[in-house]
Amino acid sequence: MQTFSSQRSRADEPALWLGTSWKMTKTIGEALAYVEQLLTVDIPSGMQVFVLPAHTALFAVANALPQDSPVLLGAQDAHWARDGAATGEVSMRMVRDAGASIVELGHSERRAAFGETDERIAWKVRAAVDSGLLPLVCVGESHEIRVAGGARDFVASQVAAALSGLNPTEVARAMVAYEPVWAIGEHGRAATLPEVTPVLDSIHEVASALSSTGRLRAVLYGGSVDADNISELVTADGVDGVFVGRAAWDAAGMRRLIEIAAQARRLPGT
Ligand code: PEP
Repeated sequence: MQTFSSQRSRADEPALWLGTSWKMTKTIGEALAYVEQLLTVDIPSGMQVFVLPAHTALFAVANALPQDSPVLLGAQDAHWARDGAATGEVSMRMVRDAGASIVELGHSERRAAFGETDERIAWKVRAAVDSGLLPLVCVGESHEIRVAGGARDFVASQVAAALSGLNPTEVARAMVAYEPVWAIGEHGRAATLPEVTPVLDSIHEVASALSSTGRLRAVLYGGSVDADNISELVTADGVDGVFVGRAAWDAAGMRRLIEIAAQARRLPGT
């Protein structure tokens, strides 16, 4: 099984991040079959791939990844408390113990259906950092906010709230995924670059005010990313990578995205 230090990103600043949350789609066996195929893919050295299985498959996937794996492992959520009476929840240190080095926080499905508020997300971000996990904070506006012209301000306030419990050095190590709610899932459509770029700028502005380096570790785009649009997205200004759902739920789809993104970014070895 990988240790946290061996599972850290392949380079201090990978040129490109490409990750997927499997959401609630895979049993342990299905997760292992996916990873077996993923490990046959030639992942260029400038690319950091990550997968976020369901909690039930974390430990098994961690054991299946070699020490020097080019694939990082993460959880899709965790509770902010160290431990205690929180029936049905798992803590940051538990997902870390199971092999995660990243934790996704604040996905719009959790905000909409599971009572995630900006305040709770900030507690979780703090707890993730305290447990040595890399927080991946998801932010994004609804269709209504977009139509009303409020996307930039709304997303900036979500980012500032999520990072409010971190010091500037910790902010510099955090990751944010911009995922417009209207772009996610089977009823979503991928955002166009003119829709994405101003919001990414607002995220980078928050980072420049809060971070010791003036930057976050990475700012990703997510929402209906697929083989047709990934080239344009990964070469856009201000995009350090993509966070993918459906198009990467099977290993062949993930392989295709890795190949296309690597070529679009002209990463060494492609
Ligand atoms: C998501 O839900 O975070 C996501 C990016 O999903 P999809 O790629 O399927 O739109």
